[in-house]
Amino acid sequence: IISMKGVGKRFGKFEALKDIDLEIARGEVVVLLGPSGSGKSTLIRCINLLEEYDAGDVHVDGIRVEKGKKLQSVRQEVAMVFQAFNLFPNHTILDNVALGPVRVRKLSWKDARERARRLLDRVGIAEQAEKYPSQLSGGQQQRVGIARALAMEPRILLFDEPTSALDPEMVGEVLDVIKGLAGDGVTLVLVTHEMGFARQVADRIVFMEAGRIKEIAPPDDFFTATRNERARAFLDAVL
Ligand code: ATP
Ligand code: MG
Repeated sequence: IISMKGVGKRFGKFEALKDIDLEIARGEVVVLLGPSGSGKSTLIRCINLLEEYDAGDVHVDGIRVEKGKKLQSVRQEVAMVFQAFNLFPNHTILDNVALGPVRVRKLSWKDARERARRLLDRVGIAEQAEKYPSQLSGGQQQRVGIARALAMEPRILLFDEPTSALDPEMVGEVLDVIKGLAGDGVTLVLVTHEMGFARQVADRIVFMEAGRIKEIAPPDDFFTATRNERARAFLDAVL
């Protein structure tokens, strides 16, 4: 469902991505690992053109990801959950989730709110629907962020360190929600520093260093038997 071929990205002279080849199948869960600055965020931001790549091709569901008419249909299939929750402070939790479908999918408020309630239930915070973002804990806000992404019924969900802004005791509840999505048919691409979680949910681990993919492997192979020296050093440092 996602195809990257020879993808490169420069910031001025600096090459943030070099010759990235990556094919991701529908329903797959792919976790990107690698040291800070290795290009993980840049890579996933190229999938929905939050970042414009300047070499190679990215296709989503057969459509080339590029500026123009078709970008809208790509963006309807790809939702992103960020590190910071980016909720609208002046809307209730329910309306934060309902807003996208109303604006983009032209749903009525009634239908969108109905759907939003179901999604809040799914992420375990149905009882918070009438509150405002500032009244929620970080973990609850991030679950709203996930519900909001799901409200657009994406086929692909991108997560960039969804738990790194959370207090440790709230990380688990958000990871549980993401775990619930895995195996639901939605394709997940996530950057995380939660190694135990990565090992549990990933179908494949992609290890990056200095803008390149250094290894792609099933999690058990990667965590127990990576032959890549740089990956070994990375794991020794983080485990
Ligand atoms: P982290 O784990 O710290 O989030 P990362 O693997 O996500 O790191 P990226 O954010 O993709 O790394 O950045 C890759 C490289 O590109 C870094 O060296 C970064 O400084 C550089 N970079 C990213 N965005 C920009 C930008 N807008 N302008 C200039 N350089 C950038
Ligand atoms: Mg990053």
